[in-house]
Formats: sequence, structure tokens, C-alpha cells
Amino acid sequence: MKLPDADQTLMQVWSEVVHDLKTAIGEKSVKAWISKLGIVGYEDGVLKLSAPSNFVRDNVLSRFSSEIITAANSYGYHVKYINVDVYDSNNQDLVTNTDEHDDVKSISVLDKRFTFENFVVGKPNEFAYAAALRVAEDKTSQFNPLFLYGSVGLGKTHLMHAIAWYVMRVHPRKKVIYISAEKFMYLFIKSLRFKDTMSFKEMFRNVDILMIDDVQFIGGKDTTQEEFFHTFNDLVDNNRQVVLSADKSPSDLEGVENRLKSRLGWGLVADVHPANYELRLGILQAKSKQYKVDIPDEVLEFLAVKITSNIRELEGALNRIVAHVTLVGRDITISVAQEVLSDLLRSNERFITIELIQKRVCEFYSVKLSDLNSPRRLKAVTTARQVAMYLCKEFTTKSLADIGRKFGGRDHTTVVHALKKVKNCIEHDRLFAADFEILAKSFES
Ligand code: ADP
Ligand code: MG
Repeated sequence: MKLPDADQTLMQVWSEVVHDLKTAIGEKSVKAWISKLGIVGYEDGVLKLSAPSNFVRDNVLSRFSSEIITAANSYGYHVKYINVDVYDSNNQDLVTNTDEHDDVKSISVLDKRFTFENFVVGKPNEFAYAAALRVAEDKTSQFNPLFLYGSVGLGKTHLMHAIAWYVMRVHPRKKVIYISAEKFMYLFIKSLRFKDTMSFKEMFRNVDILMIDDVQFIGGKDTTQEEFFHTFNDLVDNNRQVVLSADKSPSDLEGVENRLKSRLGWGLVADVHPANYELRLGILQAKSKQYKVDIPDEVLEFLAVKITSNIRELEGALNRIVAHVTLVGRDITISVAQEVLSDLLRSNERFITIELIQKRVCEFYSVKLSDLNSPRRLKAVTTARQVAMYLCKEFTTKSLADIGRKFGGRDHTTVVHALKKVKNCIEHDRLFAADFEILAKSFES
């Protein structure tokens, strides 16, 4: 069976499959193996993939075939076999405009879909979008570094890739590097091992725009932080643009030295907020138009109401619906959508995370997020920490140990103590109880 117009859908499904495999085989294996694969096609029960080397192909086939098949079939495919071709590494679909260094070549891997044109702008992300566009247009030197932050799946990586695409199109001679913080550390550590830090430095010091994604992962590694700091200072001092992203603002980054934190916040710090209903609907409309699949407005509205966790999940939901329409040919109604997405809908019903609770409690008590994880015993900090722990117990399904861990690695007895303390205060301190009620209410809607 060859599906009409299915290439795009298959690509989308594949990216979902890769994401789902993290649960099945672990994030490390996905990174090491699955992320290296490309999707080629699907025909007659055979899922065709591509791999960069025989080594990757053989490993994937012997270790992960059945997991891949299971994951793909959960999107309505009927895969029986996997076929993996080894492609010529000179012919890769990687995109980069730098060609003098092998390592650089392999770091700037950009997603073709992540352009400014494909980015739907709404209130929650308009500021970050405008800042990113301004940086891409090279209209200002004030936004240096540009620091994008927000929780997972809200479009930070998309904006960074968009900057790269834009610059590569308009100024093809400029050198742009996009790299994950993890890869940055990996390359650095490798250069230490091979006593080749000079070329590591060269690699980054010759760029016009350096983008490092998810810098929260740099926290804690002292030598890398130091190197990062120097590379960073060098670039900014020479008027090269630096763009960074993280899941927290610079001042809330954990395990990052203070002078680096403050340095990171010198340029422009732009917060990407969670999408509101309008933006969610806008994204769904834009994407369903791209797939050229007709999905009734009421179904899109239904998704926009129900899937509130983040845009990645929202896209995932739409992809499943699209796959369903394409494969089964059934018209989509709200009840079909409910059936196809039952698991996603359930997990979105009460999407309250420890991070969300921490953030809101900190805002409420005006304490810094990083203080919750620190050993500080200031009254305001202790109260906020204990209240946050209590709310985590109330509104999430996390265990006491999990909760403790997310508060600077405290142990579960600390959490038990916090729960008792808060309960006691609610019963005996009217002011405290009134505050607590307001906070708790904010999680109930
Ligand atoms: P983050 O890096 O913040 O975790 P991503 O940039 O990877 O998030 O975005 C997750 C997914 O959501 C991507 O597929 C991205 O294209 C999509 N996405 C996020 N924001 C938007 C937007 N405003 N318009 C269109 N797609 C978006
Ligand atoms: Mg990202």
C-alpha cells in the first residue's frame, strides 16, 4: 500500500515514535541509536529506515526491532518488518553551512519544519518570537546573548532552528552553529581527552552565531562551565551573536556559578509562556492545513480545550488523528478523536507538575525558585518549600521520595515533616490558611 500524501504524516509519526521509544528503551538508547535513524517509507507492512553506518543498523535491528514495531503500530500502522538501509554519509540530509570541520558538520542538524514561517505566534510567545526574529535579521546588537526560556515543548528549539534557517538563507556566508548543551560538553570533554582543546576553541570562536540549546544541562560540570564561560565571553566581546535556551531563567539555573548566571542575563531574557487556548487552536489549524487533511473545526477545538500540557503533545495528538484519517479513511468526529487519544486525554486531564507547583508557590510567596532547592532556612523560604511539597502530594501522583528529590534532593522524611507542618498551620493559623486556600484553588480549575 502506498499512501497518498502520506510522507509528511509518516515523518510526523516517526518523530512521535522516537519520542515514545524513550519510555520503552530509555532516553540514552534513543539518543545513541534511534535518533540516528531516518525514516524512508512504509509499504506492505515494511517500515523502511535509514542508518548512517552498518554498525548502527545492526545494533538497531538486533536490539530494538520489536520496540520500534510496537511503537509504530500504536499509530495505526501494521508493521511486520523493519528494513534499514545504510546511506552514504556524503549524502546526508543534515544541514549546515560550515564545511571545514567534521564535528561542526555533525552538530548543526536542523529540522526543516522549524522555520519562522511555520511558527504560530500568539500572546504567550510573541515576545520570544519577536526577539528571535530581530536577532536573525541582525538588526540589533543589544540582544546579546538572547536567552530563551520556558518549560518543555513550547517552541524554544523551533525558534533557534528558525534563526539558523533564516540566517543561512539571507546571509549564506555567515557561520551558524546550533548545538545542544550536552553535545557541547561531549565535544569539550573529548577535546580534553585528546589534548586538543585548541581546535575545540577554534571551532566555536570562528562563528557568527552560536546557539546552545538546553543549557540547564551544563549545570554542575565545573570545567565545562569554565570553558563555556570563556567561549561565551570571547564571542560576545567580539560582537558575535549568542543564543541560548533553557528550561529556567538564568537566575534559576541550578548548579551554575553565580558569575555565569549573571553573565547569561546581560542581554535579553525572553520567557516563552505555555500556550493559551487561542494559540493552541491556531497551531492546530496551521498544522492541519499543512497536512492537507480535513479535520472538522469542532474536533480541532476539542483538542485545543483538552490537550493543554504543551505544544509537543498537542502536535502528537494531531499527528495521531491525521494518521488515523489517512490510514483508516474514517471521518473524524469528536468521539473518534476521544477514542484515538484516550491515553493522552487522560494524562492531560489534570496536568499539574511539581515544576508548576514550585513556580506558582514561589510567585505567591515571592521567593526564588532556586531557594526551594537550596539548604536555606529563612522563614519565608521554608514556608514556601513546605507548602509546595504539600501541594505536590495533593495534586500530583508523585511519591514522597520523588517529591523530596525535586526539592534539592531532600529525603522523604523531610517531606513527611513538611506535610505535618502545613496541615498543622492550616488548622491553627487563620492567615496561613487563607493564603493556602487561594493557592490550592489555583490548581483546582
Ligand atoms: P522546546 O524546545 O521548547 O522543548 P520545541 O521547539 O521542540 O520545544 O517544540 C515542540 C514542538 O512544538 C515542535 O514540533 C515545534 O515545531 C512545535 N511548536 C512549538 N511552538 C510552536 C508554534 N508557536 N507554532 C508551531 N509549532 C510550534
Ligand atoms: Mg528544545
